[in-house]
Amino acid sequence: MLMAEERARVVEYCLRMAAAGLAVGTSGNVSERRGEFVAITPTGVDYARLTPEQVCIVDLGGRPVVEGPAPSSELPMHLAVYRETEAGAVVHTHPPMGTALSTVVDELPGIHYLVMRLGGPVRVAPYARYGSAELAEEAARAMAGRSAVLLRNHGATTHGRTLAEAYDRAELLEWLCGLYHRARLLGDPTILSDAELAEAARALQTYGRPG
Ligand code: 13P
Ligand code: ZN
Repeated sequence: MLMAEERARVVEYCLRMAAAGLAVGTSGNVSERRGEFVAITPTGVDYARLTPEQVCIVDLGGRPVVEGPAPSSELPMHLAVYRETEAGAVVHTHPPMGTALSTVVDELPGIHYLVMRLGGPVRVAPYARYGSAELAEEAARAMAGRSAVLLRNHGATTHGRTLAEAYDRAELLEWLCGLYHRARLLGDPTILSDAELAEAARALQTYGRPG
């Protein structure tokens, strides 16, 4: 089977995404790139029944490489991210906190240094219909210099070098949105300065590496 490992990983991470509550029902989609090809979830998929064989393979222009179900409606957004970045994987979710926040702010502010794991305060891309070329364009633009974006009144998208990294970033983004929500309920959260965030970003480059 073409891209057997990538397709198996896509299924594995769809199950994790659903179990973590990051996407309800058939919401969300996951892709992994290898060279000129992309393995991406089929549209309207019930994750509990998804098999690696059903995972679609397309080229970077979106043309199907193997016969099978139709690819995710968000294929244009995944391809836009691959075009604009060095990403090896893309995860699109409908996380409860991130999606709620996307309706009321233009940016997730830097109230915690871990936002630097996503490249900095996360922007909210303007609303456009799900699956549209416009959404793909707006999401890619709002993600410039970041590995995450919130999609106004819709959800979130993250990318990473690997699917594990893209997925971890989706979880981190949701944690940061939950944190911001709690902080706002308690009062007026302190926003870290650009210098504080830049310093944290530098330190994070070597975090967890054997000294
Ligand atoms: P698909 O089922 O087509 O992947 O769409 C789910 C989704 O989240 C659309 O934004
Ligand atoms: Zn969606």
